[in-house]
Amino acid sequence: MKPDLFEAPDYYNLDDLFSEEHKLVRDAARQWVKRDISPIIESYAQKAEFPKQILGGLAEIGAFGPYIPETYGGAGLDQISYGLIMQEIERGDSGVRSTASVQSSLVMYPIYTYGSEEQRKKYLPKLATGELMGCFGLTEPNHGSNPSGMETKFKDAGDHYLLNGAKLWISNSPFADIAVVWAKNEDGRIQGLIVERGMDGFSTPETHNKWSLRASATGELIFDNVKVPKANLLPGKSGLGAPLGCLDSARYGIAWGAIGAAMDCYDTALRYAKERMQFGKPIAAFQLQQKKLAEMITEITKAQLLAFRLGQLKNEGKATTQQISMAKRNNVDMALKIAREARQVLGAMGITGDYSIMRHMMNLESVITYEGTHDIHLLITGADITGIPAFT
Ligand SMILES: Cc1cc2nc3c(=O)[nH]c(=O)nc-3n(C[C@H](O)[C@H](O)[C@H](O)COP(=O)(O)OP(=O)(O)OC[C@H]3O[C@@H](n4cnc5c(N)ncnc54)[C@H](O)[C@@H]3O)c2cc1C
Repeated sequence: MKPDLFEAPDYYNLDDLFSEEHKLVRDAARQWVKRDISPIIESYAQKAEFPKQILGGLAEIGAFGPYIPETYGGAGLDQISYGLIMQEIERGDSGVRSTASVQSSLVMYPIYTYGSEEQRKKYLPKLATGELMGCFGLTEPNHGSNPSGMETKFKDAGDHYLLNGAKLWISNSPFADIAVVWAKNEDGRIQGLIVERGMDGFSTPETHNKWSLRASATGELIFDNVKVPKANLLPGKSGLGAPLGCLDSARYGIAWGAIGAAMDCYDTALRYAKERMQFGKPIAAFQLQQKKLAEMITEITKAQLLAFRLGQLKNEGKATTQQISMAKRNNVDMALKIAREARQVLGAMGITGDYSIMRHMMNLESVITYEGTHDIHLLITGADITGIPAFT
């Protein structure tokens, strides 16, 4: 892969709106990505392998639980810092950002928000350092966009619960030490359980042959009469709203993360267009290429402003699920379109692993599908503005 010459676009001087802490946190993540991700990521994506050696670095830049209080090992940062960390990591690779998102928003967040004090103390500090890694099991073979139909269930078996069922498409599952699993109790109510690797009847086979998020490990969670201690039930919240609360937090991070992938594609295409000569001129001199680049920076700037305002609302505790949906949907779609256009600017070179664009493009095909598909987020906005849900 080519040396990482990334320069972040900031067309509307967003830096003026960030605090010193935001910029410090962002710049530390940016430097780490340049040093520890860019040189290795292409080969790990080609091998379809997660680079486990980066876990310590992710913890050091505060990517595991950025907004979890320091008393539980988190970084105690605000939501804009969280977003900026996600942006910088995804600038490197969406798969690496996925690992961090799952750990923070889908594992640490539910344990912090719905867990008992004992669960918080037992798991959060180790999750913050990466000593323990987690995954989040909501999706099932027969239930993706409609998780309320889930079939995984548990029943009271005296001094423990007995868990049965299966989850599919679970990021981090092949190496996770714990899984936050959503299952129905005997009354059909959804609750969260912490399942630990090593429990009898619990297995995590890896999913192979992905053309997307190849540097992120994805797999199944299989529960065959798993005895889960009663102390592992998340007591604070039940019902579908519990996992959806986690998804709000993760989708918010994705809204920022996608900007990172788009910035990297734009920056690569701009540099290439200024250097590549055809018909005696740099291709950047042609109007058709300028149109592509001008539209890219316009869309990135709009996405940055959307994410920044959403971050302010989140800091004030005012961001709605529907506002988060809009930002996730818009920003991922924007990034995917930019990746496709940027690839064309590079001509044949754009399909090689010498540049990051094709990898970003393929990664973003997962990002536009997980955490609520592009269509489902549109339906969320539609239901919000009309008052008429069109899901069924
Ligand atoms: C790489 C990767 C990692 C993932 N990681 C995780 C994870 O860590 N944990 C986890 O729980 N899940 C994870 N997922 C699963 C992901 O969240 C689901 O794939 C997603 O929710 C969509 O579900 P589905 O794939 O079953 O598609 P489906 O729900 O079958 O949808 C198929 C198509 O139908 C459309 N559709 C569905 N319902 C409607 C409707 N009512 N109206 C109109 N169109 C509709 C969808 O928009 C989509 O285009 C991951 C997925 C991928 C690809």
